[in-house]
Amino acid sequence: MITLNMIKLNGNQIIGNSEQPGNEAVIKSTNPLTGQQLDPGYKGANKAQVNEACLLAKNAFDTYRNTSLKIRAEFLEEIANEIENLGDQLTKKFIEESGLPEGRAKGETGRTVGQLRMFANHIKNGFATNATIDTALLDRKPSARTDHRLTNIPLGPIVVFGASNFPLAFSVAGGDTASALAAGCPVIVKGHSAHLGTSELVGKAIISAIKKCGMPNGTFSLLFGSGSIVGQELVSNKEIKGIGFTGSRKGGLAILKTAQSRKEPIPVYAEMSSINPVFLLPSAFENIQSIVDGFINSLTMGAGQFCTNPGLLVFIENNESQKLIKSLSDVIVKTNTQTMLTENIYNSYCAGLSRLEKNKKIKLLAKSNSSTEPNQCQAALFETTGKNFLSNTDLAEEVFGASSLIVKCETEYEMEEIAKSIEGQLTGSLHLNKDQDEKLAKRIISQLELKVGRIIFNQFPTGVEVCNAMVHGGVYPATSDSRSTSVGSTAINRFLRPICYQNFPQTYLRDEIKDHNPNNITQLLNGEYKSST
Ligand code: NAP
Repeated sequence: MITLNMIKLNGNQIIGNSEQPGNEAVIKSTNPLTGQQLDPGYKGANKAQVNEACLLAKNAFDTYRNTSLKIRAEFLEEIANEIENLGDQLTKKFIEESGLPEGRAKGETGRTVGQLRMFANHIKNGFATNATIDTALLDRKPSARTDHRLTNIPLGPIVVFGASNFPLAFSVAGGDTASALAAGCPVIVKGHSAHLGTSELVGKAIISAIKKCGMPNGTFSLLFGSGSIVGQELVSNKEIKGIGFTGSRKGGLAILKTAQSRKEPIPVYAEMSSINPVFLLPSAFENIQSIVDGFINSLTMGAGQFCTNPGLLVFIENNESQKLIKSLSDVIVKTNTQTMLTENIYNSYCAGLSRLEKNKKIKLLAKSNSSTEPNQCQAALFETTGKNFLSNTDLAEEVFGASSLIVKCETEYEMEEIAKSIEGQLTGSLHLNKDQDEKLAKRIISQLELKVGRIIFNQFPTGVEVCNAMVHGGVYPATSDSRSTSVGSTAINRFLRPICYQNFPQTYLRDEIKDHNPNNITQLLNGEYKSST
């Protein structure tokens, strides 16, 4: 789509509906393909600006949370329209700052606006309210029951940390922001320093939607600067009531620690590290070629910079497994390098590979071509034995990028022990002929249920559908709270809390739990769903 009105990037903080230059150290995004620093520079927000954004969010909260579900849904839809209106300008900036191809830029834009529209639809029909009514039973013996009504209300201002690996879909107007705004929470984003211009464009689109829809000043702010300064100040600010984060385990844990040591501790929904194990059961070897194709695609897509990248491939050694290893290695060796998102991510990928290469318990099977261009990810495949894996916990550490470790087990028992031993994960996959290996499959599934947010049957993990049934979560360290998801419509529940109104007259109740149900939403009435008509 062609951009109708080009937006001038000026490197300012967006604090409510106004812009202000920061006055801390200047940061610039870098084109990872060329290593060239990009203008404009963004001066980090100072403490006064952090406080101002938080106070504006607090002041906006009362008005914003009381907007009707319909009006709030229209606002989310308007944000989606404004992002689409950024057209080619957004696509070009995305490509320049991320090194990702045009198809990915367009795909991620589609996912971002699609998420906003999904949340608009989700709140319009009232699903997120969980409206529940237990009417009075005045004749109940031995004691009467009074009228109780439950609904969900928003937590308050939320801070979102944009992720490096999804400059749009997990960033300024990504899933965390969309779900928090849908819940009725003002949002302050700490923009990721890797895609500052993309962030500013999207931030301005949100402000434009705020103005068009008459939402209160402070419903949204976007601050730039270092995580350990601006990010920590935001998390510590007393007006902030919850956090959404995607990134490293180190960053997520630092934020969690600060949030928990506040005078009023607040919830942190951090999505951190995951190696997404794939288990090949014996019958999966009936179709080696489809395993090779599917696995390589999942491993190398986007230089492996997905939280659902398969970092572990586990199987029991058999007559066919050498063929599989050879085929996988042959493809990896011929794979071209791909540009990684940032120099930091590239350096930590190289450090991860070098750690594995030096480990005597592991063998390097194959590495793709090298390149002299900056930030080039060489896909890599390693192997070890089940025994080594079980006795060296460091082998299960995430190497963020296109690297995977094959674990060759001797027995079914060893494979099951691996499923038992791994840390929490976003996903776990298993491959088999569905008419064979049933007993082993059930045992692996039973272990995975205790660890992961999503179990995948005969498919590979990379790629997350944005839908109502999605769970992009899992046990620590995949996330800081296994009861939540950061993708899909139920992501909104992270930013809501239940409240019960006891013995209330109708006039004082929120619309969704009134008897006459003006928005015609589904209510759980005395234990039975009363569907909207
Ligand atoms: P990151 O270093 O955790 O940074 C994410 C965000 O958190 C940035 O805005 C960062 O700010 C901020 N931050 C970092 N440390 C903080 C702290 N102590 N207090 C407050 N805020 C803090 O992650 P990244 O830059 O996206 O990537 C670095 C590594 O994270 C990757 O190499 C990869 O290993 C991992 N990663 C994993 C996933 C996954 O889904 N598993 C996704 C992305 C990245 P500044 O950087 O601006 O200071």
